[in-house]
Amino acid sequence: VNAGQLDVYEEIPKDLLEHVEDVLLNRRDDATDRMLEFAETVKGSGKKRASEDLSWREAPVAERMKHALIKGIDKFIEEDAEEARQQCDRCLQVIEGPLMSGMQVVGDLFGEGKMFLPQVVKSARVMKRAVAYLEPFMEEEKRAAGLEGASNRGTFLIATVKGDVHDIGKNIVGVVLQCNNFKVIDLGVMVAAETILDEAVKHDADLIGLSGLITPSLDEMIGVAREMKRRNLNIPLLIGGATTSAKHTAVKIAPVYESPVVHVLDASRSVGVVESLLSDELRDDFVSNNVQTQEKLVASYKGRQQKLVPYAEALEKRFQTDWENVRIDQPSFTGTRVLADVPLSEIREFIDWSPFFMTWELKGKYPKIFEDKVVGEQARELFDDANTLLDEIIADGSVKASAAYGFWPAASEGDDVILYTDESRSEELTRFHFLRQQWERKGQTDYRSLSDYVAPADSGREDYVGGFVCTAGIGAEALAEKYKTDLNDYRSIMVQAVADRCAEAFAEMLHKRAREDWSYGATEGLSNEQLIAEEYRGIRPAAGYPACPDHTEKRTLFNLLDAEANTSVELTSSFAMTPAAAVSGLYFAHPDARYFAVDRVTKDQVEDYANRKGQSLAETEKWLGPNLAYEPE
Ligand code: SAH
Repeated sequence: VNAGQLDVYEEIPKDLLEHVEDVLLNRRDDATDRMLEFAETVKGSGKKRASEDLSWREAPVAERMKHALIKGIDKFIEEDAEEARQQCDRCLQVIEGPLMSGMQVVGDLFGEGKMFLPQVVKSARVMKRAVAYLEPFMEEEKRAAGLEGASNRGTFLIATVKGDVHDIGKNIVGVVLQCNNFKVIDLGVMVAAETILDEAVKHDADLIGLSGLITPSLDEMIGVAREMKRRNLNIPLLIGGATTSAKHTAVKIAPVYESPVVHVLDASRSVGVVESLLSDELRDDFVSNNVQTQEKLVASYKGRQQKLVPYAEALEKRFQTDWENVRIDQPSFTGTRVLADVPLSEIREFIDWSPFFMTWELKGKYPKIFEDKVVGEQARELFDDANTLLDEIIADGSVKASAAYGFWPAASEGDDVILYTDESRSEELTRFHFLRQQWERKGQTDYRSLSDYVAPADSGREDYVGGFVCTAGIGAEALAEKYKTDLNDYRSIMVQAVADRCAEAFAEMLHKRAREDWSYGATEGLSNEQLIAEEYRGIRPAAGYPACPDHTEKRTLFNLLDAEANTSVELTSSFAMTPAAAVSGLYFAHPDARYFAVDRVTKDQVEDYANRKGQSLAETEKWLGPNLAYEPE
């Protein structure tokens, strides 16, 4: 049985079902012959006919609406809504009848793993269009009779926190909850704590959901929780997003707020969590389980064994290079180059598709995922939709890409890297500040900092460092918003997902070009798979990632490249890049350069780092929050 092709049982055409059951259940002696005969009548018509099969249009209107919801077909939904409306006394009965029961089936199938996220998002489009069609009539009815609006299972207020712009995950959660008949109030991105809480009170929200991608957002979330306590609120708080974790939620957020604080791993789990928190029967058990789990996480955090060496020792045991003999190449130019309006048609060749499927919660690696028995077919459809969208935005130019990158003469000095204005290396242009590993681990004797990959001035070697900022999201936000307004969440989320992929692909393409400019990569001749597997020399670490976790270093990079003017990418108050589909980082060409994780740092290092950055200890501790091995005062 190919589970991925399982149809909804009730929807299998009756004549086909009879033949299949005859064979499977051995009900007739001539079952096989009859099946073969039947097969002749549908031979050669293939998939196409199936998708154009309109026999479902003959069913009663309630059935048709249900079918449209489950299959995500929005073509007839408005005419069906109209017909249903005429048959009912009140519009509300259409919503609470066929629409809700259809969405119930969708929710159940999704819960059982028989429907996948992309299908659910498509169903949401059908539902939203039907509701939008019915809304004016309902308003009319309400005015006439003073009736209440459609009931829902509770109000969920969701926002991406201040300083952060990432919202694919949040949008998906919103859609999935709406499909399950929760009222969702989405405040968008970069929302201050005050606004979130004012709105929550105003709308009498039953739950608040916070989303964020970058590490400074973790701090922002703690701030929201504190503010909730200060205001004496007792609304449960849900935490989600890429850098959030069950552990961080347990250790840092839950303790500052008395009501339940729950980490939600991914969109598909949000329904269960929300249902439990709002159900009189399930709530108590759910909350006490959550508390117990969090207590365990706090205990394991406090009892962790990881040992840290003093900063001085880590410095001494830095990663060593034989600077006299290591290969150092000279880039073909120094200073900044701007690539304005780079064709997406060129960029798309470099896309790494595996994370795209992850965004849509389909598990598997590209291209093997297409053969997957469970999600293969869905993955193929999703992939085709993404490529259709790419074709469109390439043709109409609605989404644009641009970049700035460059190389500079450079030298390391302790854990800083100095960039010089020119080859005379006499005048400092700017400097980057890095952190050094202090954690002991098996099999590793050195403690790394990115500065180890650049020759010090006194090594007698002249080294270089590169930097880049690129985006493939100029216009993407407007386009996603337009689809959202059209009630087409599927397309809206697809635009964001595709733009994100293109930004990463652009970073890959740009890195290849940079290696060519730097001469050492001119002959590498790697396939896209090899590029994705990073089989080239050098790395492009990104500020905010484990090797250089401090997001504020992006400010230095952006100034260096005059990135705002050259690429139109900007930094938010938390140093997130907007448009969200943007990537930035540094280029290191050292043959042994590797990505690593700085992880936790002790106060001696943080003090030194604050000094180097010319910034107060408190300010530094704020930005390094998730990396501190101690409680700041
Ligand atoms: N093919 C992937 C590439 C992105 S992830 C995609 O399309 O999504 C890999 C990038 O993350 C690296 O190029 C680097 O910029 C960043 N990165 C990964 N690990 C890192 C680390 N430990 N420190 C700093 N940056 C890191």
